[in-house]
Amino acid sequence: MRVLITGGAGFIGSHLSDAYVERGDEVFVIDDLSTGSIDNIAHLKQHPRFHYAIDTVHNQPVVAELIDSCDAVFHLAAAVGVKLIVESPVRTIETNVRGTEVVLAQANKKKKKVLVASTSEVYGLSNDVPFREDGNLVMGATTKGRWSYACSKAIDEFLALAYWREKKLPTVIVRLFNTVGPRQTGQYGMVIPTFVRQALAGRPVTVYGTGEQTRCFGFVKDVIGALIKLMEKDEAVGQVFNVGSNEEVSIMELARRVKKLTGSNSEIVTVPYDEAYEEGFEDMPRRVPDISKVSALVGFRPTVTLDGILQSVIEYYSGRQSNGRS
Ligand code: UDP
Repeated sequence: MRVLITGGAGFIGSHLSDAYVERGDEVFVIDDLSTGSIDNIAHLKQHPRFHYAIDTVHNQPVVAELIDSCDAVFHLAAAVGVKLIVESPVRTIETNVRGTEVVLAQANKKKKKVLVASTSEVYGLSNDVPFREDGNLVMGATTKGRWSYACSKAIDEFLALAYWREKKLPTVIVRLFNTVGPRQTGQYGMVIPTFVRQALAGRPVTVYGTGEQTRCFGFVKDVIGALIKLMEKDEAVGQVFNVGSNEEVSIMELARRVKKLTGSNSEIVTVPYDEAYEEGFEDMPRRVPDISKVSALVGFRPTVTLDGILQSVIEYYSGRQSNGRS
């Protein structure tokens, strides 16, 4: 099998590349390295079954050629990270909407199956927990930059479903819940790498808001296992799936666990949202997936607990610190 992974030098995309190369398949990656990093794929660069283009998914001829060379497409290229989104809303909207338009239009010419990565962020302010794929999406005000991410990914979902219904392009949509593991950077606001690095460096661990808000963190290898299985299942076409863990933890409890597992003396401080992001910032109080749909179709089950995930991130960052990298 030959797969194209847009955003393949990103955190999730690089793990997906590893998995396909290990299976004996051929991988093509397109990534503009905006939030991804060449370091994530450095170990694959010499591999005969791995090919990469440093380019944006807006480059139509390049995307068309890559799609021609492949049997299926994972569309993971997107602007991600709440910090980045709040700071660069134009880039968020343009990357997420235009990029998906190009990938779907080109894939449609050759009817190549596309799995579009969406996000749990689309559930927005819904409090109908656990979130089901057929539940309502509750968008916040357009004056709050954060929601541009949810809306742009919701448009991607509409478009992918429309291509299936109207043009019979096989598409699958996956709503990724907070996904964590080695190679994830805290640079764009992701909480676990941020807390781990703070704790390892003895700096204050910054809990935003009260810390009562909750999340469920899934291990990247579990998540990509589900992506691969969904790509292989004919019944997944034209459908939306939540993928992630359903082990719920408050952010304050997360900070305590990171402190304990790193053996750190860092203090835990709370930072008001207005200071952390922007004035009037709205957070999601609880974010828990209902994963029964993906479990029923492909037998998905998270195998790594939160403590296991934290250990792997701690090991990753401890190694980088002792190598003089940060
Ligand atoms: N968060 C935090 N401290 C940080 C970074 C994030 O308390 O240094 C909080 C953030 O406000 C949110 C949760 O941790 O409530 C998860 O944030 P992240 O950006 O990882 O993902 P989100 O679930 O918001 O997309």
